[in-house]
Amino acid sequence: MNIQPNETYILNLLKTLLDTPSPSGFTHGIMSLIAREAEALGVPCSFNEKGGALLTLPGRDSSRRIALSAHVDTLGAMVRAVRPNGTLAITSVGGFMMHSIENEYCQIHTRSGRVYTGTILSTHPSVHVYSDAREFKREEKNMEVRIDEVVENKEDVLKLGIGVGDFISFDARAVVTSSGYIKSRHLDDKASVAALFGLIESSRREGWIPRHDLVFLISNYEEVGHGASWIPDGVNEMIAVDMGAMGDDLSCKETDVSICAKDSTGPYDYEMTSRLIELARGLGIPHAVDIYPHYGSDASAALHGGHNIRAALIGPGVHASHAMERTHKLAVINTTRLLAAYVAD
Ligand SMILES: [Zn+2]
Repeated sequence: MNIQPNETYILNLLKTLLDTPSPSGFTHGIMSLIAREAEALGVPCSFNEKGGALLTLPGRDSSRRIALSAHVDTLGAMVRAVRPNGTLAITSVGGFMMHSIENEYCQIHTRSGRVYTGTILSTHPSVHVYSDAREFKREEKNMEVRIDEVVENKEDVLKLGIGVGDFISFDARAVVTSSGYIKSRHLDDKASVAALFGLIESSRREGWIPRHDLVFLISNYEEVGHGASWIPDGVNEMIAVDMGAMGDDLSCKETDVSICAKDSTGPYDYEMTSRLIELARGLGIPHAVDIYPHYGSDASAALHGGHNIRAALIGPGVHASHAMERTHKLAVINTTRLLAAYVAD
């Protein structure tokens, strides 16, 4: 089925998601947004124990159940220690290069609900002072958060209510350009969450019913490896919708839907992957079939969790993933179209 996704709906939702902090382990705020959005579309939404959202859309034939997942958690950090000079040492949440967060604005979320702003810097941040500022190794122990409050020592920081274990989120700086590019942190995987909501919105607005029952899992621990390690009973097939990797000998572009044949965790289901390729060809959707050398998805998490399922992986092409990412609206919208073709034939 060739649906007409609502571009305005998808892009507005994506912008809202990108503007809402949600590092893995700190997703309760964004999950209430997910619940509100599901309610607005009239789709039942429940949560698993670890806080992932489950949305259901009944199909014409309930003999099979297809899971579609995307993760709303992102990279981030946590306060590792309050340093004697009043800065914060950090520990990473998820895997990224320290270069990619250097000089970024951030928010510190205290356990009592207060939010402070700051900047992530190396501990040798000025060329006027440190002769090794250029070569200084950007690694966790050499990075810190400069808090935007008058603090001169550890006690001053503790008085603000900031402590070890508080979450730090990076400003996403989401921008949609007039040429259709979306540049932002955390398009991995909020672009796919928006694509999944675009699918539900289209089903509501265009009045189509999926062939089989659908369960949407909006997972919240993917960046740390166990997002969809649990999925609901009765699922036969699962499509993880997650960013398409780009670069080196991969052929994907930011305007493409990426179909992953194999990642670090092994090959995806032969029939599902072949069918997705065929459907993309049939609809004339710009796409790439690629192998991701350093990647595991929520579908691999589910398989490793012991689920008896077939699994595939597709998603919008994302440049500079886990750094300053960029995709194009065509890739997001065509991800929705390809999923519709798969579930609504
Ligand atoms: Zn991802």
